[in-house]
Amino acid sequence: MFIDARTLADRTLFKSDIAVIGGGPAGITLARGFANRATEVCLIEAGGLEPDTATQALYQGENAGIEYPLSSSRLHWFGGSSNHWGGYCRPLDPIDFEGRDWVPHSGWPFGIEELAPYYPLASEIVEIAPAHFADQAYWQKATEEVLPDPVTGRMQVRYVHFSPPTRFGSRYGPELERASNIEVLLHANVVNIAATAGARAVTHLGIRTLNGRNHQVQAKVYVLASGGLENARLLLSSNDVVQTGLGNQNDLVGRFFMEHPHLSGFGEAVFAELKRLPKVYRERVVVDGRAVKAAFNPSARFLRERRLLNATFMLGLAGQYSREDASDSERSVAHTDMLKAARHFLADESGSIDAEVPPPLGYWLGMGCACEQVPNPDSRVMLAEDRDALGLRRIRLDWRLTEQDRRSLVEHMRSLAMELGALGIGRMLLKIADDGVWPEKVSGGSHHMGTTRMHDDPKRGVVDRNARVHGVDNLYIAGSSVFPTAGAANPTLTLVALTLRLADHLRAQL
Ligand SMILES: Cc1cc2nc3c(=O)[nH]c(=O)nc-3n(C[C@H](O)[C@H](O)[C@H](O)COP(=O)(O)OP(=O)(O)OC[C@H]3O[C@@H](n4cnc5c(N)ncnc54)[C@H](O)[C@@H]3O)c2cc1C
Repeated sequence: MFIDARTLADRTLFKSDIAVIGGGPAGITLARGFANRATEVCLIEAGGLEPDTATQALYQGENAGIEYPLSSSRLHWFGGSSNHWGGYCRPLDPIDFEGRDWVPHSGWPFGIEELAPYYPLASEIVEIAPAHFADQAYWQKATEEVLPDPVTGRMQVRYVHFSPPTRFGSRYGPELERASNIEVLLHANVVNIAATAGARAVTHLGIRTLNGRNHQVQAKVYVLASGGLENARLLLSSNDVVQTGLGNQNDLVGRFFMEHPHLSGFGEAVFAELKRLPKVYRERVVVDGRAVKAAFNPSARFLRERRLLNATFMLGLAGQYSREDASDSERSVAHTDMLKAARHFLADESGSIDAEVPPPLGYWLGMGCACEQVPNPDSRVMLAEDRDALGLRRIRLDWRLTEQDRRSLVEHMRSLAMELGALGIGRMLLKIADDGVWPEKVSGGSHHMGTTRMHDDPKRGVVDRNARVHGVDNLYIAGSSVFPTAGAANPTLTLVALTLRLADHLRAQL
């Protein structure tokens, strides 16, 4: 059942077994895990079934670090940011879960084998199943192309699947609406998570609507699923018992904010023949109605050897290099030497290049990357002094990147250049200055991770391995805020898998 909280009598009290805060991919997946069962679920969503500017404005905040779009990087209505996500899906790599002595604060409480059973169902939920993320032979057969394996040992090819993209609200909302045991409260903003005197347990949630109503939700178990920035904000704001915020007795809530720094335009690859670069390496290919594209990402062996962070690179055809513009195009002139080098591959194969009828001059590729950043306690979500329309302190985000992040990225770019050369695909021109400063154009991918990190030790993490907030018996967190490290894969598939695991855990508890 869907209920508009604005239309209820003031101070309505809801009671249920589980209260879920937030109706994005995490909250909806958690609620679906209990659909049509004996457990009663109340899913509380700040927005409605359509976007509205007043609710969206609650997401505005301040930047203290790298400029970051706090409102446009997430959506505040039913379905959350899945209402405009890009649908890129790939699981984390096994090495991402490991404690790596060159990555401070790294290490999940478990390895990928703990999440592996949940990725297939998560893939179904985001409508990419059956997924083949690492199966080169499968894609070779499916695309009917020869897909060369990387040869330098530095890189590997992985396959990114594209969700349609699934809009969780419209896709799964009707199912929740029909479920006999689920109530979805819309236009209901959780403004406080109230706890017992010693903060050992949550007692109820304070709800406020933009038309001035106040309600309460009481439950046995509470799941905070309001997104990677808002999860921290709500805990920090819920400070009537613990002055620094609920779950924040060790000053960890909001710290370790991580993004996947995205860069484009850092290099171009010039190559002589399109056939040298399989289609799936340069554009989305649709097989059996499912779209996929290859990505280059560093091998675990290389990461260990060079003590680097993870990264993902994707290539895309950017233009053709024609004879007509060869003399006056700045790009063409700049690329002439590289193109000559690239054409040597052709000469090697055919024995010679016919000087009378030169082949087309070639093509160039644009490339983009998303990389891992080191978990950094100084990169953090805090509360600003300014308040939103509901009286809640706004977010103040201090996103920081380090020299270790930058060095790692530059080394991977060089590796990619080597790989493209070694594969005989083309020559890469690096356009990034290795001058010790982050390029100005760095942005995020709207991936908000790490602010309520998972660790078995309460002094090192906000939640334990079961996503329960340390010290609070009945409060759990779903979403990428629990990631202790970010890897270089887009986060939604993994956060859905983690949420399925949490639903299993809660079913066993209740
Ligand atoms: C433009 C864009 C492109 C993206 N592309 C990709 C991609 O290609 N691949 C990928 O993996 N990820 C992508 N993402 C990220 C992806 O959208 C998020 O990882 C995902 O939506 C997070 O799910 P969530 O449920 O944890 O949080 P959200 O989607 O943020 O959902 C949180 C929900 O909680 C509600 N809420 C918040 N505060 C409260 C409150 N106080 N009370 C009640 N309800 C509240 C919100 O309204 C929202 O509905 C993209 C994001 C953006 C913005």
